[in-house]
Amino acid sequence: MSLHIVDHPLVQDALVTLRDKRTTPESFRRAANQISVLLAAEALRNLPTSDVTVDTPMGLAEGRRVSTDVVVVPILRAGLGMLDAVLELVPSARVGHIGLQRNETTAVASQYYSKVPSGVDKSVVLIVDPMLATGGSAVAALDVLRLAGATRVRIVCIVAAPEGVRLVEQRHPDAAIYTPVVDRFLNDQKYIVPGLGDFGDRLYGTL
Ligand code: URA
Repeated sequence: MSLHIVDHPLVQDALVTLRDKRTTPESFRRAANQISVLLAAEALRNLPTSDVTVDTPMGLAEGRRVSTDVVVVPILRAGLGMLDAVLELVPSARVGHIGLQRNETTAVASQYYSKVPSGVDKSVVLIVDPMLATGGSAVAALDVLRLAGATRVRIVCIVAAPEGVRLVEQRHPDAAIYTPVVDRFLNDQKYIVPGLGDFGDRLYGTL
């Protein structure tokens, strides 16, 4: 598995805004959008392209067009906070949804919804899930996507825990993870420390 730490100054700056407990839901959403654009751009850095020639008002120019289908899969509900950012970047992307609910006591993820576009075996797939905590949701989403035939899958998250990175590495060694940071540990409730709290609650103001 490859772990990519995205160290762009704007990513790190937005991460501090997201971590700050005084950040309002409005500012939280703005920072989530900003960081997601930058993370997704990094995760898509090596997208295949094909050479093209374009006719400008001044003559011919050589260029490259993205030649692969991109599928983005937010893990409900927190992953929705990253979806619009990826669609801004890749308006042609198709969207799958995977609904996973974390049992508050056991922190085990169970799937309640899944709709994945057809033909993902030929696509580059981005799973967007802001908090890679136990890794249970990421592994469950990877299981669904693998079953659907996806082979080129990247996970984009905003904060990762060592436990989550390890689990993905064990269960799906060929999946790449893009994150600005790997935090210290998970607490007894399986929240990332220091993390940023509950991403979905802060995004939607449901605290
Ligand atoms: N989900 C969150 O929203 N926050 C965490 O710290 C872990 C999982």
